[in-house]
Amino acid sequence: MTLPSLTQRAFDQYLRGVVAWLKHKLHRCAEDACWRKGSDCYLPDGQPGVPDEWYCWEHAASAGYCRSCGSFNGGIESFDCGRSGLCENCDYQWRADTGEFDSDEDY
Ligand SMILES: [Zn+2]
Ligand SMILES: [Zn+2]
Repeated sequence: MTLPSLTQRAFDQYLRGVVAWLKHKLHRCAEDACWRKGSDCYLPDGQPGVPDEWYCWEHAASAGYCRSCGSFNGGIESFDCGRSGLCENCDYQWRADTGEFDSDEDY
């Protein structure tokens, strides 16, 4: 099948737009070539409770989002320099949870 009215470049651009739209619809990770299921990610100036983007666990942190709650933390030193990819709240929660788990063995 040939597409005489479209140049290859225009077609590529069109395809990329369709893929981005589809990923957005299916809540897939927004990272290029990543089709994992994404978590809800929220921009600081977005509507509360309405996700702005979706990223998988692996790519959320590099895009500046907390891997757990999806809040945007890009530019915050403790987040950018930390290895957990969790915001301060979730990092604390995670520590508390694992701490509880450790001391809860004797049942
Ligand atoms: Zn991803
Ligand atoms: Zn968080």
